[in-house]
Amino acid sequence: STSLSESDPVLFKSVTDELDRQQNQIEMIASENIVSKAVIEAQGTVLTNKYAEGYPARRYYGGCEFVDVAEELAINRAKELFGCEYVNVQPHSGAQANGAVMLALCKPGDTILGMSLDAGGHLTHGARPALSGKWFNAIQYGVREDDLTLDYDQVEALAVEHKPKLIIAGGSAIPRQIDFKRFREIADKVGALLMVDMAHFAGLVAGGVHPSPLPYADVVTTTTHKTLRGPRGGMILSNNLDIGKKINSAVFPGLQGGPLMHVIAAKAVAFGEALRPEFKTYAKQVVDNAKALAEVLVTRGFDIVTGGTDTHLMLVDLRPKGLKGNIAEVALERAGITCNKNGIPFDTEKPTITSGIRLGTPAGTTRGFGVEEFKQIGELIGDVLDAMVDHPEGNAEVEAAVRAKVEDLCKRFPIYS
Ligand code: PLP
Repeated sequence: STSLSESDPVLFKSVTDELDRQQNQIEMIASENIVSKAVIEAQGTVLTNKYAEGYPARRYYGGCEFVDVAEELAINRAKELFGCEYVNVQPHSGAQANGAVMLALCKPGDTILGMSLDAGGHLTHGARPALSGKWFNAIQYGVREDDLTLDYDQVEALAVEHKPKLIIAGGSAIPRQIDFKRFREIADKVGALLMVDMAHFAGLVAGGVHPSPLPYADVVTTTTHKTLRGPRGGMILSNNLDIGKKINSAVFPGLQGGPLMHVIAAKAVAFGEALRPEFKTYAKQVVDNAKALAEVLVTRGFDIVTGGTDTHLMLVDLRPKGLKGNIAEVALERAGITCNKNGIPFDTEKPTITSGIRLGTPAGTTRGFGVEEFKQIGELIGDVLDAMVDHPEGNAEVEAAVRAKVEDLCKRFPIYS
């Protein structure tokens, strides 16, 4: 058994380079986090060798008694964490979780109603290029033109007009809490099922700083790797056991084959961590940090979509500075701050250019940054972007100075040391 460094030095280098990148830059991508060594360790175990089609105690392969323990742990911890009756931890990703719900609850050609990508929704909620947009009659709602918050009146009007089978709440760039009760009322009014995709804010729900969608939704989907801080993967939750039965069949054999048992083990580890009191502290800090960062960016002359945030993320409208998202993203990257360009609602720029960037605090919070550090990060972002107003290609001197401060912050809050 040769080590990875000996057997595949080229691949090994990509891993150590990536480790170095994560250690020495500030991760502001709202959908990313920094998992514990225990989560990484679980994923690197012999559980990767095991085929376990089916569910615990009902497998299509022999020798599943130990992976059953891992899957049961993941299921039971998730049930406790989110206070629900049914959980499926097998979806390989968030997209797979959403696909499984549609396979379980809809037929091709059915009408679904989800938030449009440009307004902050996700591809899997009915966007044109995605399976959800191709195989269903996908109707899309958005945000209000005046304050850029979710347009519940439009959701209701579209639901009444199109009578969807499934209404989807949630998205990838929604900075505010969603009114699940209003969605439930709309779904009931038209006899639709309600799915909430809590991928982005699941960790905030688990940490008790965000309302839970479970009392309102028929089914809830999530990723496990964003604010929830587990391995890359998906999960489906519900309080309706009949729906749970359909979901189980949709995940396997409907959509997937063998579950990734090493990833399920890592999910169990992450849910165990999320059940500890420290996770509540982390979740509260994520939100406090996001508010502090948004406030600094406002003082630096940026517009924040909806005027602020009550979650872990914000959308920064760069138009007051005359900048575009694509060039801002690469300039910040040169300065050691990683984020993504992001369209802002009603953006007139192409998705490859955009008028905004999306910023999130989960990864930084995990490495230990508090409000003071995030205020400093807000100033550093302001410095890099302000310097671009007169130097659209970026100001090397300013970027180098910021890079030095970023490295200093990273050294003070080390990861994986
Ligand atoms: N749902 C939402 C709201 C998301 O933001 C994402 C990821 O960006 C997904 C689903 C898809 O998750 P994955 O990338 O694991 O397929």
